[in-house]
Amino acid sequence: MTGGARGRIRAFFEQNVGKIVTTREIAEVAQIHDYQRRIRELRNEEGMKIRSYRDRSDLKPNEYILESLTRDPSIGRRVSPQLRMEILERNGFTCQLCGRTGGDPDPTDPASKVRLVIDHLTPISHGGGNERDNLRVLCSACNQARSNIEPPSESAANLLARIRRAPRRVQAEVYEALRRTFD
Ligand SMILES: [Zn+2]
Repeated sequence: MTGGARGRIRAFFEQNVGKIVTTREIAEVAQIHDYQRRIRELRNEEGMKIRSYRDRSDLKPNEYILESLTRDPSIGRRVSPQLRMEILERNGFTCQLCGRTGGDPDPTDPASKVRLVIDHLTPISHGGGNERDNLRVLCSACNQARSNIEPPSESAANLLARIRRAPRRVQAEVYEALRRTFD
């Protein structure tokens, strides 16, 4: 995780998840003048769900809120072209699982060729970011195989959605088990 002002602001938001924080508190934590830019980076590069009065009418212009600890995958997954090239060069333009390079035949479909993609070792949905040691080169075939076995993220929202889809009998069992745990 990036340190410095950005790291301090990230930690502050995460400690206050679901609570409204003010620009004054953020400025104090950040200890820099240009904290607004760091907030933009946390939203646009790390996919943190930080909302302002521009997103929510219940917030005042000096208020922000981190809505949840899960990252927005579509935003956080974005790796800049420069960073992509850096990781490709570091990994020798080679898939780190099978050793294929771009243009090699696809093992699942020999008629087509693999592409090289940048993979997150810890997925964004599990709190991973675009740090260099969390990135590696995979071929499209290995990447596809990996995403098929990746379990869904264990956020409360996702778990609840799965429980709601379960049969009534299973829901009752979950309810009973949780009630026993928290009684
Ligand atoms: Zn591969």
